[in-house]
Amino acid sequence: MEFRLNEIQQIVQDTAREIATKEITKYVDEIEKTHSVPEALMKTIADAGIPGIPFAEAYGGVDAGYIAMSCAYEEIAKVCPSVSVSLLVCISFLEAVKNYGNEEQIKKYVPAGIRGEFRGSLAFTEPGTGSDPKQITTTAKKEGEYYILNGTKRFITNAAYSGPILLFARDSETQSITAFVFDKLGEGYSTSTPWDVVGMRGSAIYDVFLDNVKVHESGILGKPGEGFPVLLGTVAHSKVALCATFVGTMATSYALAVKYAKEKMHRDKPISKFPSIQLKIAQIAAKLESARLLTRKLSEESDDHSRIEHMKAWVGMVKAFVSDVAVETNLLAMNVLGAYGVTEEYKVERFLRDALIAPHIEGVSDLQRVIAGSYILGSDDALV
Ligand SMILES: Cc1cc2nc3c(=O)[nH]c(=O)nc-3n(C[C@H](O)[C@H](O)[C@H](O)COP(=O)(O)OP(=O)(O)OC[C@H]3O[C@@H](n4cnc5c(N)ncnc54)[C@H](O)[C@@H]3O)c2cc1C
Repeated sequence: MEFRLNEIQQIVQDTAREIATKEITKYVDEIEKTHSVPEALMKTIADAGIPGIPFAEAYGGVDAGYIAMSCAYEEIAKVCPSVSVSLLVCISFLEAVKNYGNEEQIKKYVPAGIRGEFRGSLAFTEPGTGSDPKQITTTAKKEGEYYILNGTKRFITNAAYSGPILLFARDSETQSITAFVFDKLGEGYSTSTPWDVVGMRGSAIYDVFLDNVKVHESGILGKPGEGFPVLLGTVAHSKVALCATFVGTMATSYALAVKYAKEKMHRDKPISKFPSIQLKIAQIAAKLESARLLTRKLSEESDDHSRIEHMKAWVGMVKAFVSDVAVETNLLAMNVLGAYGVTEEYKVERFLRDALIAPHIEGVSDLQRVIAGSYILGSDDALV
């Protein structure tokens, strides 16, 4: 892995930074208040080519790889992490179709998704399980060429927007998990009102109620009963995107803390001269850079789908690490700002609230470490 970005990655990072600072920034207050990323903004992001960054030119993508994609998530999250989460779910859906779908499914979804024509969703969490998807209870009953889906999915991003959903259900006969792709908002599909959450408020999450939703067998991604590897592989990609997003929260709080420390005066000198402030800034800087480097390493692995088995263990522990340091560093940055840190005006408050989501999304941190630890101890495949 190169530690410096190559020319294409640099162009992508600059483009994403420009979109974030010139366009996304205009919408931040609206996004936070309405719990929604406006359609016009998603279109602007798509027109800039961002959803297509990791996909081949044949699908309308940019073919710039996952390090470039991570840079884009980070730049977007530096301004509004909720936009990054809404977007990463759309892109993870496309990634799943590209990796596990047949040609017809790829042609149907990937180019249109890259053009930003819909907001995809992923649904594995249920009221009874999140980190441990083997416990999924949503049922799929085969009737002729169709499957009839019943159950409830919980905390689903983008669930109330039109577009496709990748949803995991248990076959009533074989008891194995199958991955289904179908359009949201059709007959039998309904959602709750959005959940009120501490952070990532702009990327609303909903319960999804499936009441005899009919899905044609052509909507199966991969093979019937072989949905579990699809789930793990898809979530592995999506965790990398989440890491990049939380690195974005850390980067902004760090920049805000440094700026404040240089401007705030005590006893005729800036507080940046106090060792207590210097200690905090140094801790944030080291953790931010470690999280960024680990995320980029995993991003490089994401480019090679044949490495997915190796990546699955890495991704859990890296996501747990990044989640921990995202919370710690945003809190440290808040402390640098004293009482101003807890006001909305100084913005660190919003980035800390967004970072608080990190250990609770796509598998809680402890379980990620347990899975990674058991993989390391039970495998001959050294991770380093
Ligand atoms: C902002 C946001 C967006 C989200 N978007 C989506 C989405 O788009 N799609 C989706 O499907 N989900 C989504 N989720 C849900 C999220 O991924 C799950 O909530 C997460 O995986 C945690 O699951 P859980 O809440 O059921 O917690 P649990 O998995 O029940 O964990 C609760 C506690 O029990 C412990 N625990 C659980 N299982 C075990 C075990 N086997 N052994 C030992 N300890 C265990 C854990 O360590 C934890 O401390 C989202 C959540 C949020 C907050």
